[in-house]
Amino acid sequence: MAFLEGKGGRSPSSFLIEAREELSRYETVLVRETSVTDIIPASDAFEFSSADGTTGKASKVLLATGLVDELPELAGIEPLYGVSVHHCLYCDGFEYVGKPVAAFGEGDKGAELAIMMKHWIEDVVACSGGSEVSAKAARKLEEHNIPLRSEAIQSMEGSNGELKKIVFRSGPDLPRAGLFFSTGCHQASDLSKRLGCRRNAKGGVVTDPVTEETSVPGVYVAGDVSRDVLLVAVAIAEGAQAAVAINKAFLRRDGFCD
Ligand SMILES: Cc1cc2nc3c(=O)[nH]c(=O)nc-3n(C[C@H](O)[C@H](O)[C@H](O)COP(=O)(O)OP(=O)(O)OC[C@H]3O[C@@H](n4cnc5c(N)ncnc54)[C@H](O)[C@@H]3O)c2cc1C
Repeated sequence: MAFLEGKGGRSPSSFLIEAREELSRYETVLVRETSVTDIIPASDAFEFSSADGTTGKASKVLLATGLVDELPELAGIEPLYGVSVHHCLYCDGFEYVGKPVAAFGEGDKGAELAIMMKHWIEDVVACSGGSEVSAKAARKLEEHNIPLRSEAIQSMEGSNGELKKIVFRSGPDLPRAGLFFSTGCHQASDLSKRLGCRRNAKGGVVTDPVTEETSVPGVYVAGDVSRDVLLVAVAIAEGAQAAVAINKAFLRRDGFCD
C-alpha cells in the first residue's frame, strides 16, 4: 500500500494485526473469525447468524464489509496485481511519476483514466483492450498527447510482480512499468441488500453523512460499502462517526440525553 492512514509503505496485514491487538484490550469486545450469513430485523434488535453455526442478537448493526475489485480478464495479470498493476491512482499513482504506465479500461474508461493520470505522469498510454473508444474520448486523448492502443491484449508479462511489457494480439509490444485499470467493483456482501438498505446508482449504500446510518434505522455502514472515497483513512473516520452516533442513540434510548 502506498499510504495507509498517513503512513506510507505499511503492509495491510501488519495494520490488521495491530488493530486486532488494540481490540483485544477491551474485555467487552468479542471477535468471531467467521462470516455473517444473515441479519434479520427483530422487534427491538437484529438477529444474526454466521457460517460457523453461531447466532446472536444486536441492538445496532455496523456493516464494514467492503467491496471486491473486478480484475480485468487479462492473461498474466494475477501475479502482478497489487505490485505493478493497480486499480487506485490515489493509492499507488505517486510511485509511477517519471515511469512509463498504461491505463486500461474498455470503451472510454481507459481513456478517461489515462487523462486523469496525465495530470501526474508524463508517459501514459491508454489501452481499450480491443473495444471501441468514442470519437469524443479519442479527441481528448489527442488534446492531452496520450497515445491510444485499442488492440486486444494477449498477455501481461513480468517477473516477481513487476510488469515488463504488454503484449497485444497485433502490433508491437508495449514496455511498461505499471498498469492502472478501471473495470469497476461490487459489494463483497449482500447483507445491506437483504436488510433493505437504500443504494445509489453506483451500488453504494446511502448513508446520513453525519451518523453513517442507512435508510434502515439501526443499521450503519463504514468504509467502502458506501462507495464514497475508497481509502483506509476514510474507512476509519466513518467507523468513528458511526460509533459516536451509535453511542448517542444508546444514551437517548436509556434516558441519558434527549
Ligand atoms: C490492492 C489494493 C491496494 C490499496 N491501497 C490502498 C492504499 O495504499 N491506501 C489506502 O488508503 N487504501 C488503499 N486501498 C483501499 C483500502 O484497502 C480500502 O479503502 C479499505 O480497506 C476499506 O476498508 P473496509 O473496512 O471498508 O473494507 P475491507 O478492508 O475490504 O474489509 C472488509 C472486511 O469485511 C469482511 N467481510 C465481508 N463480508 C463479510 C461477512 N458477511 N461477514 C463477515 N465479514 C465479512 C471481508 O472479508 C473483509 O475482511 C487499497 C485496496 C486494494 C484492493
